Amino acid sequence: MRVAHPSSVGFYAVLAVILGGGIAAIAAMAEGLPLWTAWFGLVAFALLLGIGLRRPGRRWRAVRRPFPSAWRDWLHTHVPLYARADEADRARFERDVQIILADARFEGVDGVEVTDELRLSVAAGAALLLHGRPDWELPLDRTFLFYPGHFGDDYTALEPDYDGMVHPQGPVIFSAPAVRRGWARTDGSNVILHELAHLFDFEDLYADGVPSLLDPGSVESWTALVKRETALIRRGQSMLRRYAATNAAEFFAVATEVFFERPSALSQRHPALFETLTALYALDPRPPDGEEATPPAESLMARRWR
Ligand SMILES: [Zn+2]
Repeated sequence: MRVAHPSSVGFYAVLAVILGGGIAAIAAMAEGLPLWTAWFGLVAFALLLGIGLRRPGRRWRAVRRPFPSAWRDWLHTHVPLYARADEADRARFERDVQIILADARFEGVDGVEVTDELRLSVAAGAALLLHGRPDWELPLDRTFLFYPGHFGDDYTALEPDYDGMVHPQGPVIFSAPAVRRGWARTDGSNVILHELAHLFDFEDLYADGVPSLLDPGSVESWTALVKRETALIRRGQSMLRRYAATNAAEFFAVATEVFFERPSALSQRHPALFETLTALYALDPRPPDGEEATPPAESLMARRWR
């Protein structure tokens, strides 16, 4: 991730010049207006430039802070790719975590305390998805809500159904215990990676299971791959849990979880899917010795995640 994207800062700079200059010119040339009204142009210029620089400024301040050693320990224990990375890559990962924490807002619901662990759980997931693609961004400038347990469609605990849920332009909602479970074991189940993967879909405003950052030339082969893999799931011949067969969007989200949590097994059992995701995320998350902890059977049970 980058602190500032030249295209977005440049957009506001050009807008500031055009609008600010326009207002100043109109005020200066209009008959009957006192000359001092031209200063409104300068105000508009400063306001627009300020809006453009707000996010880069927030990120810049965040990355200048020292990275807490307790956070470093947490990443070492919970994110294998970070633990294996060299010093430069680890530093980049930590910087991404700081940027994400600067962008996102976190709230606890019904007494849930927003701990560093919960915030770090979200930031580590996003940093992992973006690690191979330093130029990519996820739309993380939103609120992440933590519930004390499962929640239903109306976000109350009346219909305890979901561990995670994401809205195209609204909040991302998690059950706090599910977040902790997600990082506790590398068993191919991680609600954070699941919901954040949906955000790649939502960048084009609806979840169609075709990640918005997929090279347009690859869409056809991706769709065919999803169809083939979904048929395997329905026949019980896939390592992806059945929930992945719900639709293409859920397939992508579940495949992302398995790709990052059980990459060696995925590369052996579903080589085409593994290669496609390696190309998409621009990294190979397999440990060099190919060793992955084999998960207990119950963790592969379908969960109703959105
Ligand atoms: Zn989902």
